[in-house]
Amino acid sequence: MNHDDASLAPYAMHSSATAGRVHAEPAHAYRNPYQRDRDRIVHSGAFRRLAHKTQVFTGGMGDYHRSRLTHTLEVSSIARTVARTLRLNEDLVEALALLHDIGHPPFGHAGEDVLDERLRGQGGFNHNRQALRIVELLEQRYPEFTGLNLSLEVLAGQGKRAGKTHTAEQPPGRLLEVQVVDAADSIAYDAHDCDDAVELGLLSLADLEEAALWRTAAAHARERYAALDERQFRRTAVHELLDILVSDLVRSTRSRLAAAGTASVAEVLSRREPLAGVSADLMAQQRELERLLFERVYRHPVLLAERNHAGAALAAMFDRILDEPQRLPGSLAGIATEEGLPRAAADFLSGMTDRYALEEFARMGKGTRSGG
Ligand code: MG
Repeated sequence: MNHDDASLAPYAMHSSATAGRVHAEPAHAYRNPYQRDRDRIVHSGAFRRLAHKTQVFTGGMGDYHRSRLTHTLEVSSIARTVARTLRLNEDLVEALALLHDIGHPPFGHAGEDVLDERLRGQGGFNHNRQALRIVELLEQRYPEFTGLNLSLEVLAGQGKRAGKTHTAEQPPGRLLEVQVVDAADSIAYDAHDCDDAVELGLLSLADLEEAALWRTAAAHARERYAALDERQFRRTAVHELLDILVSDLVRSTRSRLAAAGTASVAEVLSRREPLAGVSADLMAQQRELERLLFERVYRHPVLLAERNHAGAALAAMFDRILDEPQRLPGSLAGIATEEGLPRAAADFLSGMTDRYALEEFARMGKGTRSGG
């Protein structure tokens, strides 16, 4: 056991118990395998491009709201807090969190829907699967191998997100570290989408009062501070919302682990049902808040208009590349040959930032060749 593992719970994934990497590499002098994975993800081109990719609200809507990158950092921050509190492997959690949205195309789900539709019958497009393509195939940073050669636990965790069905060798369950990142993802977006939507004027505080979870958070904010202006109140309520969900996640996970008498990683992996998660009551409240966000924010006319515009641009570029394959960068020629032009086009387009995609769309309109 290396010193990073000494403080971990018995049901945590110990760094020294890793199954290794596809391409065997000697151990690093002072970083454990998951710290190394985290660093490889942070240094990847796909990770940097998250800064200019839409989470929910596009870059044209101002600078306040979350981008795909800052969403990712909030997920990592929440997940690490929970992991440390539960004595899980914080390094593994951090690597998984930083990786989890790396496969998103530009323009959020609008971009994903277009690519999925264009690849219908050819495997479709899914951001969780694309994350695996990026780290296993598309990132070319090391002379010894394609991809980032991440630890098998990180690949398996992302594989579960991508809905890869388990094989005879793979157990049905997910590591607690993977479960915690999943829970942290929904906690992060529930909280920040409330904050961003109100800031952008797409939703009012009165709208949010329709959700029980927000009402509780708002009540906590009012109890703590007598007089807050509207913006201070909103931000305080968002912090309270995070605190309610994260505290419940820690508590509920602890009591499930205790009730199940969980004493090892093998026991965690043998269970199909997750052990880490908020209570059933809070889960229902999260779903209620998410329905409200879906109806009032994600389907808001302002966002639908952005969506349609971005989707049409991406679709036009996809079709243009199929007509003029020379538009593909040379680095994707091998993929076009082996997996077909549509898949290579999706790899190219999904790697673009929102900004680059719009610039490329304008260039294509003028008929100029991309620089690749
Ligand atoms: Mg996410």
